[in-house]
Amino acid sequence: MPTIAENVAEVRARIAAAAVRAGRRAEDVLLVAVSKTQPADALREAYAAGLRDFGENYVQELAQKADALADLRELRFHAIGHVQRNKAKFLARLAAAVHSVDSPDLARELGRRLSSSEGARPPRAFGDDPRLPVFVEVNIANEPQKSGVSPEALAPVLESVEREPELRLTGLMCVPPFGDDARSAIPHFEALAELRERHGGATRLPELSMGMTADFEHAIAAGASVVRVGTAIFGARPKRSE
Ligand SMILES: *Cc1c(COP(=O)(O)O)cnc(C)c1O
Repeated sequence: MPTIAENVAEVRARIAAAAVRAGRRAEDVLLVAVSKTQPADALREAYAAGLRDFGENYVQELAQKADALADLRELRFHAIGHVQRNKAKFLARLAAAVHSVDSPDLARELGRRLSSSEGARPPRAFGDDPRLPVFVEVNIANEPQKSGVSPEALAPVLESVEREPELRLTGLMCVPPFGDDARSAIPHFEALAELRERHGGATRLPELSMGMTADFEHAIAAGASVVRVGTAIFGARPKRSE
């Protein structure tokens, strides 16, 4: 089996090639290593291979790993899963970015928790701005049961993030419908890029978080600036034990 370091090198090379094909630079695409269900030691290995940005879906798991890996000073945790309002206080303390804000309620609660939280803040992703970078998650194909705001209801969620002085509206995020063929995600990636254009373009929404192991090269072709890759780096996920 290839090591995590070898996988990281391979994924980086594929990202660079896809960026160049799209007329962009490799540095313009951020790799977020999705480490949900992986043990802390796997993140340590990826950190040693140069990765700094890690994506976690479950707030409690993120908190446990933040504790176990507190010595890795440059590690940044990105919250990428559905966030319940009552977990906002943990993210205010621990997250470098949140990719999955999908309601004005959650934006308000994150803002409130940040303004009342004391002590050191974790390092921020996407530059030195001290505000918490926030992506609004879009349910791009309007799938029932899926989290994310529907494309039609996006405007008030964007505005709710902009109203919070402690949040920085950073971009849009999506998880397209599951398909057997990676190419099935392409129209959804393109739809998210178009949605950005309709809501202020890259000035208001500089980043697009889209693309996973199966389809990140297609996402980059459609304009992704952040890809969230788990399996290609860490291998198949151990099953969650609950
Ligand atoms: C699990 C997950 C990923 C990574 O998936 P892989 O197919 O393992 O690369 C990316 N984004 C989200 C929101 C996820 O839940």
